[in-house]
Amino acid sequence: MRGLEVLAGNPQAKHRLSAGRGLSHAYILSGPAGSGKHTLAGLLARALVCSGRGEAPCGACPDCRKAAAGVHPDVITIGEAGKDISVAMVRALRSDAYIRPNEAPRKVYLLPDAHTMNQSAQNALLKLLEEGPPYAAFLLLAENAGAILPTVRSRCETLTLSPVTEAEARAALAARFPDRPAQEIADAARRCEGLIGRGIALLEGGGRTREVQDQAARLAALLLEGPELTALEFCTGLEKWEREDLCALLEETVEQVRAGLGRPWEPRRAMALIGRLEEVRRSLDFHVGAGHVAGWLCAGSFSF
Ligand SMILES: [Zn+2]
Repeated sequence: MRGLEVLAGNPQAKHRLSAGRGLSHAYILSGPAGSGKHTLAGLLARALVCSGRGEAPCGACPDCRKAAAGVHPDVITIGEAGKDISVAMVRALRSDAYIRPNEAPRKVYLLPDAHTMNQSAQNALLKLLEEGPPYAAFLLLAENAGAILPTVRSRCETLTLSPVTEAEARAALAARFPDRPAQEIADAARRCEGLIGRGIALLEGGGRTREVQDQAARLAALLLEGPELTALEFCTGLEKWEREDLCALLEETVEQVRAGLGRPWEPRRAMALIGRLEEVRRSLDFHVGAGHVAGWLCAGSFSF
């Protein structure tokens, strides 16, 4: 598999995924929060749906690109943050798995909170792992693989991610934040205790506020689902926003649309919206006013 350098440290996991071996149809990615489970799951999902030539993920085929943008119809996230994955959800997943992939050679199910499945939910999944269609692939994320039943574990390849060394954390954070002073990077690398995700959160200032997240969710839903009048009102209201808040809102909205795979948003429209939001966000770097931004969003809102 290509692209493993996106994951810091973890030579053992990388070795098991490196060239010369095909990919399994089911993985358990375990390790503490911030250790790279989501990063690796993203890479595996791209590798599984890639339709390019040579070693996957090629990074250039439409499947790789859509998966990277978080809008591939055959990469399906199961579950919602803060809620357990129920047996009903696994049964729905099972019926869905028997519908052939839309575009990619495979259909990938990502379970970011696999540890929240109770025994019945896990048993329902086990049946699918044993008898499911050959194109279905599963990525189960859990802080502790012990939360997954041994019967399920025996059907999956388990990759355990560990905290990286301080030097590895420094290198990974410096690559991700090339403009930050070396001292800040070194501080974050020391404080994150080998968990890159935590280091990133430290350098990003603890992430965006809850309010920005809520507003972004509203904006995304309004632009993609309407109603038009409410969307127009919302966008017009942005005229009064400060530039910095507007940047944060647009960036957060892009992230949420990317993450919004579980919702019934049509991928092409979601991609178009991401493109437009990014364009509008960039315009803010060139001293375009909030009024213009509001106007552009209004004008483009209904053409996705
Ligand atoms: Zn590809």
